[in-house]
Amino acid sequence: MSRTTRQIVLAARPQGVPQTADFRIEDAPLAEPGEGEVLVRNLWLSVDPYMRIAMGEEGSLHGTVPLGDPISGGAVGEVIASRAEALPKGSFVMSRAHGWREAYVVPAADLVPVDPATGPVQRHLGLYGLTGITAWGGVRGVLDPQPGETVFVNAAAGAVGSVAVQLAKAAGARVIASAGSAEKGAWLTGALGADQFIDYREEDVAARLAEIAPSGLDAAFDNVGGNQLEILLDAMAPRGRIALCGAIARYDGAYRAGPANLFAAIEKHVSLTGFNAGFYFDRAGEIISEFAALERAGKLVVAETVAHGLDAMPGAFIDLLAGRSRGKMLVKL
Ligand code: NDP
Repeated sequence: MSRTTRQIVLAARPQGVPQTADFRIEDAPLAEPGEGEVLVRNLWLSVDPYMRIAMGEEGSLHGTVPLGDPISGGAVGEVIASRAEALPKGSFVMSRAHGWREAYVVPAADLVPVDPATGPVQRHLGLYGLTGITAWGGVRGVLDPQPGETVFVNAAAGAVGSVAVQLAKAAGARVIASAGSAEKGAWLTGALGADQFIDYREEDVAARLAEIAPSGLDAAFDNVGGNQLEILLDAMAPRGRIALCGAIARYDGAYRAGPANLFAAIEKHVSLTGFNAGFYFDRAGEIISEFAALERAGKLVVAETVAHGLDAMPGAFIDLLAGRSRGKMLVKL
């Protein structure tokens, strides 16, 4: 019996903000698994900002999606047919490439096994996966905040930001969080324990930082880039540290462009350290154990925004970029 899957392909390169017409759902044939391969049915799809870069002409570390090809992305699924001893039928797995589709066949060696005993399997796309490891890398690996230091986090109510806020608080820092709505602000200063909130859509961020951190920021976790990074450079204290995590404000265009006021880093001995989660994947086991224990102990708030069904994926992606999610954005199949 020949099998098929449904998948989402890139119908057009988005011009500016992505539109649903940039995506198309298609049926595609599914091969029977060969020796060493497995057939996986996806249960959860990851929705991530970097996908916008991969949809553009220029691409990045993550490559460029060819027009008409299925879009790459993270997913957690269940093995439903196996010809690989290491991953018998019924195993749960994470793929960094086979999101945006319902099922796929690959060599078992391409997949990361997921232990459902650690916690809900979709956590391997968020807290125990790319975004949680990114937050850990930026806070612990790069910034290393000390008790009493003032730390700023932007896109703070998102998947990476919400974990970064909590890790910085747990280190004893004073945390200033920024995001794009009053509801997000109430969550950040309530459940997540941030000390202050700045609504970047409504407020003058530079003026507010001057008011609430007059001695400057000791550390900043930058998810946004663009104009926000320029404001941060001016707001840093001498010898301040910036972790460059992302530049979502510019994923529609010149995301590789640097800040116009970079000279402020020279004047103030500010360090800017770019990093990506891949540099911390070798520590994933340790990071996941720590996060799972904190979550079980009620010391880590985990939020997920969930859309349902493959057809909802383009809309979920558009909503993520527009700020309509809190915590990790996922699609449940
Ligand atoms: P989020 O869950 O944070 O979603 C993105 C959020 O960014 C939106 O909710 C929106 O919230 C905010 N945003 C969108 N546009 C703008 C803008 N122009 N200015 C300010 N805020 C904006 O996504 P992730 O947690 O997955 O990713 C956060 C960042 O981390 C991204 O830049 C991403 O590329 C980066 N990243 C980096 C990795 C690495 O290895 N270095 C790995 C994973 C992610 P709001 O309501 O606040 O506007």
